[in-house]
Amino acid sequence: MEKYIISNQANCKYCYKCLRNCPVKSISFSDNISKVIDSECVLCGKCIEVCPQDAKKYLFEYERLKYFFGKKFLVSVSPSFFSHFDEPFKVISYLKKNGAIISETSIGAELVSNEYKKLSGIKISTACPVVVDLVEKYYPEKIKYLSPVVSPAIAHARFLKQYFGNYPLVFIGPCIAKKRELEEEYDLVLTFEELEKFLESEKVDIFDFEDDFPQEPHPKLARFYPISGGILKTLGETFEQVFNVEGVKNIKDFLDRVDDIDGNYFVEMSACIGGCIEGPASRKDISQLEKRIRLSQNIKKIPEGLAIENVELDLKREFKDKKHYHNYTEQQIQEVLFSIGKTDKSKELNCSACGYDTCREKAIAVLEKKAEKEMCITYLIDKVSTVSNMVVEETPNLILIVKDGNINYKNKAARLTFMSLSNKKLWEILKDVEQSEFKEIALNNKNLKFFVKKFSLPEDSGEVFILTDVTKELEQEERVKIIKKQTIEKIEEVLNKQMLLAQEIASLLGESIAETKSHFTEFKRYMEEENDYL
Ligand code: SF4
Ligand code: SF4
Ligand code: SF4
Repeated sequence: MEKYIISNQANCKYCYKCLRNCPVKSISFSDNISKVIDSECVLCGKCIEVCPQDAKKYLFEYERLKYFFGKKFLVSVSPSFFSHFDEPFKVISYLKKNGAIISETSIGAELVSNEYKKLSGIKISTACPVVVDLVEKYYPEKIKYLSPVVSPAIAHARFLKQYFGNYPLVFIGPCIAKKRELEEEYDLVLTFEELEKFLESEKVDIFDFEDDFPQEPHPKLARFYPISGGILKTLGETFEQVFNVEGVKNIKDFLDRVDDIDGNYFVEMSACIGGCIEGPASRKDISQLEKRIRLSQNIKKIPEGLAIENVELDLKREFKDKKHYHNYTEQQIQEVLFSIGKTDKSKELNCSACGYDTCREKAIAVLEKKAEKEMCITYLIDKVSTVSNMVVEETPNLILIVKDGNINYKNKAARLTFMSLSNKKLWEILKDVEQSEFKEIALNNKNLKFFVKKFSLPEDSGEVFILTDVTKELEQEERVKIIKKQTIEKIEEVLNKQMLLAQEIASLLGESIAETKSHFTEFKRYMEEENDYL
């Protein structure tokens, strides 16, 4: 079931752009339905960013913020809050007026950095939930390199509860992955986009509010956590070397080679290039440089106050092997490859048109029912051309392809019909035929009549002749014509006879009526005379 990333099936056009860009291929396509596989997804947000049809969205739950208003609640604002909003201090003021105690997540970051400083060997930061998910789900053998420390947001949640008391907790940040990471520690996790949507839906005019600031205590160093190198700045000289790796592809490359490195190194890792200020739910209309400038200018406006000191919290974290292992045999994989036309290695193009990096990965996805064979473009073309070839071969019409006077192809019907004619003779008969006309061809002592259609193939590839045998139809037509003629003649003959008979009857009737009339006239006259004498 999709929980955090939701697909809109009506919008999806099956272009596979999301799958091509998904670093872990956690999107399935089956029965015309595209779905994000929640247990495999690392919530990097790439599919949402690249979909040209707006068919992927993340869970929007901003309406729930209203439920916390009117009573005291705690809000952890991530440090990139100050680079995202045009008026961050007015937004803080609005939330405070509605009951929020606003505190900076950087406090948690500072606590986490203090834990990092106690580590040695090669250690990777665990502030980015995408990194942690990636290691647990795809590189469990590298868990040993993850710093066994909770993320800044979790450390902050624990701090807030201890410092302010047990109030409802809300987190606001630029990251979609935090929604899953923090679901047990916080009552509501919103992105900046969601908070903006909330302000819009509540018709809040932010300029109605005076600037206000986060609550004390304040962090000392960790407000730059969300920019590249921000974590490293907090570590001082603890490690022999510190460096950062950004972007899921670079992280995967690093994890593939980390075993070759030896020493005391700390690696700051973030899935977003540029750090959390470039998180998937952060604004895209201003540059990274502008965000960095805004961050540094805005944090200078926060009045100095109490710093965090002597905090005792359990910030340890353990990681789990969450890898989804498949146990398909080589034979099963080869069978799928074979069924999609990859009959040998040279046919495995690894073109990525289906969304998978290799044909083999695609074959495994087919076995897992995450992909369909038809997603392979070459398989689809082969399938379509096989069907077209079958139709051409099996049609009762005679099809010939001619190039430069040579008949290069005859379909089955043409081969059988013109069995007794050489290609040369056949071409002699057909060469002068017009675009669409009837042509009579003598075959086996019989004159066969064909309706011929002719057209040229693109790019001068030859001409196609389609001959439909209409001999029987024409003979039938001829027979019908004769029958019609004979019927008309017969009708004429019968009519003429009837006319003669009618005339004869009429003349006989005429004589008898005239005679009767004269007798009646005579009788009438006699009767009248009789009356006169009475
Ligand atoms: S990118 Fe993915 S979700 Fe978007 S239209 Fe293409 S296949 Fe569908
Ligand atoms: S959020 Fe990232 S990992 Fe998850 S499906 Fe989208 S692209 Fe893949
Ligand atoms: S780097 Fe990106 S994905 Fe990672 S925590 Fe920051 S915003 Fe989230």
